[in-house]
Amino acid sequence: MATVGVIGAGVMGKDVALTCAAYGYDVLLCDSDADVLASAPGQMRRRVRKYRMMSPAVAEWHADDVLGRVSRTGDVADLAGADWIVENIVEDPEAKRELYLRLREVCTETVRVAVNTSCMPITRIASLMPHPQRVIGMHFMNPVPLIDGVEVIRGQHTSDDTVKAAEEFAGSLGKRPIVVNDMPGFVSNRLSHLFMNEAAFLVQDGVAAPEQVDDVFKLGYGHRMGPLETADLIGLDTVVNSLAVLYDEFQDPKFRCCPLLKKMVDAGFLGRKSGRGFYDYTTSTAGAR
Ligand code: NAD
Repeated sequence: MATVGVIGAGVMGKDVALTCAAYGYDVLLCDSDADVLASAPGQMRRRVRKYRMMSPAVAEWHADDVLGRVSRTGDVADLAGADWIVENIVEDPEAKRELYLRLREVCTETVRVAVNTSCMPITRIASLMPHPQRVIGMHFMNPVPLIDGVEVIRGQHTSDDTVKAAEEFAGSLGKRPIVVNDMPGFVSNRLSHLFMNEAAFLVQDGVAAPEQVDDVFKLGYGHRMGPLETADLIGLDTVVNSLAVLYDEFQDPKFRCCPLLKKMVDAGFLGRKSGRGFYDYTTSTAGAR
């Protein structure tokens, strides 16, 4: 079976690794933080348990089999022989740039690289690589095992062959690819970050409590989750970083980040991953929303 190198073992990397392994790929999970890497298997096992209760497809997964196909490394050089690399490190342009400058020494001309970013231009990242035609955006959505769609982003250099391979790769993971062209934030995050940011302004301005904002979306518009629940799920640090990228790229004030979001990140209220964001996830009713 083909091998997938997954770089970044955070919120997204763990779920991408689980999904690839569940669909039969051998996975090599890479993170620069040894503690993150050490705790990953335990967290991934707990996630399988949780997702099994939420999806009939995941209910078929067997944690031992899935985790048995996942190895770990702290060195990206070990990913040299992978068929696909799915990169999921922090949404920080300088961190991504440094990583790709390292990856360009590692990747052979047979590997294809899927960039999982919320907002960063794929073309700029691909330009750092020796074979930019083999680089494509694959914006997996959170939580990866439960979401059917993957936004596939064609960069300026991406070849038709790589687009086709990405569509097949997504299909092999049980996902439906939606192919769009490269522009910061693509379709999903250019829209969603506007409403998450404005929702934070509504709370900051005292117009409504988080529950009320989210209930308007759920009860009024029939959305499955409200914007602030979504922001907590994504991670408020990632939302703030993504807004910074959008603001920087478009130079448009509509993407200026709500000060309340920055204050919450400064306080360590990052959402689900830290136990507290717009909601508290440390109580027994956590996750009810
Ligand atoms: P995260 O902060 O949870 O995890 C990032 C991980 O990358 C951390 O474990 C960190 O140690 C690791 N890392 C940092 N630099 C590294 C390097 N040079 N080499 C290896 N590992 C490194 O972030 P996340 O929420 O998983 O997001 C990852 C990417 O996916 C971001 O670009 C984000 O915008 C995008 N994304 C996030 C979501 C979401 O809902 N969180 C959804 C879609 C896409």
